Amino acid sequence: MQLANYIRDIQGFPKEGILFKDITPLLIDQKARKECLEILVSSLRDKKIDKVIGVESRGFFFGMLIAQELNVGFVPVRKPNKLPYDTISASYELEYGSDRLEIHTDAICKGDRVLIHDDVLATGGTAKAVCELVEQLGGEIVQFNFLMELSFLNGRDRIKGYDIFAAITY
Ligand code: AMP
Repeated sequence: MQLANYIRDIQGFPKEGILFKDITPLLIDQKARKECLEILVSSLRDKKIDKVIGVESRGFFFGMLIAQELNVGFVPVRKPNKLPYDTISASYELEYGSDRLEIHTDAICKGDRVLIHDDVLATGGTAKAVCELVEQLGGEIVQFNFLMELSFLNGRDRIKGYDIFAAITY
């Protein structure tokens, strides 16, 4: 099965010049979704992960599935003012705009081995911000884990030195 067949390109969304990678065809097909999950977790089973972070919002879908599959905790990293308890925040830049991300202060314990999952690695700004949040709370990043890497945007350079996995590379 070619996972890339379940990713739909939408030209000009959410604004002109962006080729948006739509994962909803992958979510809707249970066989492809299961296979994708297996690809994402295959290298992780012996890595002693304590928590999986899913980045709002498309990182929540597979992030939660990965956490369930590995039988570990799930932590949402969210856009500003969505999390109700005490938070810390980090700024980041997107391929289309800039924003801030937040995490609950009690979501990661010192020494936790953390997997960070998101749908797309583009410029790497988002991943870098999540990295700052996890390390500020004393977590250890075991892997950055993506459905897709847009390698031509060189996002890897922003998270150099960490283990990076992507199921599909463009
Ligand atoms: P970046 O911070 O530039 O690496 O962007 C990654 C974040 O933006 C991820 O949370 C993605 O969901 C989203 N993103 C960036 N570019 C795209 C794209 N071409 N298609 C879909 N999502 C994207």
